Amino acid sequence: MAEDNEKESINRPFLGIWFDCCHTYGRLYKNKDGTAYVGRCPRCLRPVRVRIGGEGTNRRFFRGE
Ligand SMILES: [Zn+2]
Repeated sequence: MAEDNEKESINRPFLGIWFDCCHTYGRLYKNKDGTAYVGRCPRCLRPVRVRIGGEGTNRRFFRGE
């Protein structure tokens, strides 16, 4: 429960990704700095992070590696 509970969390932008580890779909939410989408696999809770910008984030879907 360390995550912040800000009011804007409801409208927080997210990124849909496919988790290869568990073959399931999940969401990553933008971090405070807006530099990356972060989240966890809903099944094994493995942390996943996708950087925004720099390496190109034109794709809408990412695969957890
Ligand atoms: Zn997993």
